[in-house]
Amino acid sequence: MTDPPNDLVSSAEGSGLADCPFCGGAAQINQIGNEHTRKRGFEVCCVTWGCKTKKRAMVLRHSLEKAREFAIAAWNRRTSDDALTSRDARIAMLEQDVIAFCAPWAVRYARDHGLPDGHLHPTHYDILERAGARMDDFTRAALSPSQPTGGETS
Ligand SMILES: [Zn+2]
Repeated sequence: MTDPPNDLVSSAEGSGLADCPFCGGAAQINQIGNEHTRKRGFEVCCVTWGCKTKKRAMVLRHSLEKAREFAIAAWNRRTSDDALTSRDARIAMLEQDVIAFCAPWAVRYARDHGLPDGHLHPTHYDILERAGARMDDFTRAALSPSQPTGGETS
């Protein structure tokens, strides 16, 4: 079994690093500290912008060369569980983005279309609810175009 050449991997290192288990991107290994620093080791991280996947191996008594082996082994050993954890984190982040972006616009849309206070267009309501927003303050407006307007104040 031979590794396919991967131009993106920092190949000067002759690294033998597997692709990022989360995004499939190239990996790069960086040294932390040196033989004379108390804190020393290696960190393997994904080079894809926005992907923060990384594995770090620090050593106290072992040589830096050992630390490099540990870091590469840790990176290559990453399981699909790790990938799922990353994916969950990414989904949670996207949900927050959806809420942050949609909520003000959904409220404004509802106001512009004369929906009562706190009512949202059902599609907007569903999107926000699906993203995990707290919907306590909102009501899913009925689709009827004859929806009375301005009927509720708080
Ligand atoms: Zn990645």
